[in-house]
Amino acid sequence: ILTVNHLTKKFHFLTAVNDVSFTIKKGNVYGILGPNGSGKSTTLGMVLNVVNETSGSFTWFEGTSTTHQALKKVGAIIERPNFYPYMSAEQNLKLVCKIKEVSPEKIHEKLELVGLLDRKDSKFKAYSLGMKQRLAIASALLNDPEILILDEPTNGLDPQGIHQIRSIIKKIAASGTTILLASHLLDEVEKVCTHAIILRKGHMIYSGRVDQMTASHGFFELKTSQMDTL
Ligand code: ATP
Ligand code: MG
Repeated sequence: ILTVNHLTKKFHFLTAVNDVSFTIKKGNVYGILGPNGSGKSTTLGMVLNVVNETSGSFTWFEGTSTTHQALKKVGAIIERPNFYPYMSAEQNLKLVCKIKEVSPEKIHEKLELVGLLDRKDSKFKAYSLGMKQRLAIASALLNDPEILILDEPTNGLDPQGIHQIRSIIKKIAASGTTILLASHLLDEVEKVCTHAIILRKGHMIYSGRVDQMTASHGFFELKTSQMDTL
């Protein structure tokens, strides 16, 4: 689905992402894992065309379309969910359908998937943080993307909210949608992902299966760096 080749992003003298390469294959769940400031969001930003790369390249869908066209088949949540507070969840999603020029027929199906169908008439402002995040996921799925990209999907949620989001991600993955998420939590990647890309200070120190990462040098580095930040 996505091939990333030697991507690098420099902000003045800081190299936020340093020569990162990986491949995202259909059907897997990938976690970009690393401590704060390791370059996770910047990496996602580059492949979503919201951050300009300094060097390197990436290719969506084996170069069959331009990045602009390819991104229509990508669902992404890289910011705090933002909807109209005084409109209901369903009204908000109807508006998203208009903006994205997709049919509104999937709204109920997606609300059901994230467990919000019975709360579809509640105003967005009455939603908890976890519900807001679930609504954002429903919104990102309205056009049935081939891949869903999530930046720190459980940040700020309580244990129940975290559990709900993780189960929904697993359900989406089980239905055949590829997932790429960023997280600073080892636990999250171990519980949700099949594959991990570990970043430390912009460098990729591991890329491979989650069930093989504990034996890798990169994993040891991550554990050490997480201890540094505690
Ligand atoms: P977090 O876990 O805090 O979300 P992250 O892994 O997503 O961290 P990035 O947001 O990609 O990390 O940032 C990587 C580095 O680049 C950080 O040192 C950050 O301060 C820096 N950085 C990010 N965006 C900019 C910017 N627009 N201008 C300057 N520096 C930036
Ligand atoms: Mg980030």
